[in-house]
Amino acid sequence: MEAIDLGGLRVRMISGGELWLDGGAMFGIIPRVIWSRATAPDEAHRIRLACNCLLVEWDGDSDRRAIVEAGVGQKYTPKEQKIFAIDPTEWIGSSLTAAGVAAETISDVLLTHLHFDHGGGLSTRDADDRLVPTFPRARIHVQEQELSDALSGFGIMTSTYRPENLEPLAERWAPHAGGVEMLPGITALPTPGHTRGHTSLVLRGSERTLLFVGDVLPTAAHVGAPFNMAYDLFPLDNRASKQALLRRAADEDWVLVLGHEPDTPLVRVVVEGDWYRFEAV
Ligand SMILES: [Zn+2]
Repeated sequence: MEAIDLGGLRVRMISGGELWLDGGAMFGIIPRVIWSRATAPDEAHRIRLACNCLLVEWDGDSDRRAIVEAGVGQKYTPKEQKIFAIDPTEWIGSSLTAAGVAAETISDVLLTHLHFDHGGGLSTRDADDRLVPTFPRARIHVQEQELSDALSGFGIMTSTYRPENLEPLAERWAPHAGGVEMLPGITALPTPGHTRGHTSLVLRGSERTLLFVGDVLPTAAHVGAPFNMAYDLFPLDNRASKQALLRRAADEDWVLVLGHEPDTPLVRVVVEGDWYRFEAV
């Protein structure tokens, strides 16, 4: 995909792989007759989800090159590959190689949170089958709360914070307090709800601003107020985070990047009465 020039920094969409998750779980309390109109499930009742990542480069600073999110990764057993319909040959590593970008040139990785479909690409196995960081030089930016919750396994899902994604990064974490500019033009915006340490990422150039939303609002079909995921730890908080993000994005004309949206990942927010809808960019 062509780079989006924000003014001073350039952004390219990069695939972090794909997975299929249970449609009911993805839409929480929304009845199947409603959500299945927007997103048709397969025979196993799953829906297709992208793991969209970004490659960010700065004008005049060739040492700095960042990835937003690491996607689902490729370290899955045959059984897990089947459950989630994961193709282990399609992950952030293979996508970067295809784009001509060497993993060693990535200086920073920025994450919304550490569930396996976001942090799975952080580590890989070397020729001796040892777990190693995928990006050997990169610092990994994530909110402190999220990192401590990931390391202690805080949550309702049993195996979404996976040791094989976290342990190889021990020396590389760069935890932050939320609300801070982590790299020039990139700020973490605390958006609790899906997890309590979840952050969305604002990428601000001189010309325009992108918002990487994360799991506050994983696909375009989740724009409605009650469209939470059953995976959200704090649904009401997520709803409040979503409303605040949508209002601000509409007011400030931000372009949103939807992390799991397979068809229209880039959208603008349009105010519609008391709520909002999306227009594909
Ligand atoms: Zn996710």
